[in-house]
Amino acid sequence: MLQPIRLISEAAELAARRHNGMARKGRGNEPYINHLAEVANLLATATDGADAELVAAGWLHDTVEDTDTTREELATKFSERVAALVVEVTDDMSLPKLQRRQKQIEDAPHKSPGAKMIKIADKISNTCARIVPNPSGDAREDLAAYVIWAEKVVAGCRSVNPMLDARFDEAVKAAKSVFEGK
Ligand code: ZN
Repeated sequence: MLQPIRLISEAAELAARRHNGMARKGRGNEPYINHLAEVANLLATATDGADAELVAAGWLHDTVEDTDTTREELATKFSERVAALVVEVTDDMSLPKLQRRQKQIEDAPHKSPGAKMIKIADKISNTCARIVPNPSGDAREDLAAYVIWAEKVVAGCRSVNPMLDARFDEAVKAAKSVFEGK
């Protein structure tokens, strides 16, 4: 396997290239790479830098779902575990959105500890990106729907890493103060 700093650096570089030109949902049309940087950094912080493959998988977690990257490519370039983690958090895009969301809720408790951590970090990042100043009615509704669903997915991912659990709870609290007006 690549030396840890190289593993993460190569993962960031590949993710940046593959998601080039994509924008994330939520505040100010940020480039997609900002989302990946957030997820990877949440994982690095939560584990205090102890798991390079997890951080690399954080950078790469949306490559199989959203770009033409394959499991085989990730296994060859990075490691079998990095590829397995990314595939574990990849939705079956042949299913309609509601079914994909339902499947995430059902599958979450059966994921590996690493995949559960990526899931929570993803939900923290996506929730925070949807909290914008002076949200429109649509933005408020989108935030509410996202958070209610994310809480159900995260319920099946808890107790692997207390810091991630706490960060998710803070994000939910901030979101609810927007859509419940508290
Ligand atoms: Zn993501």
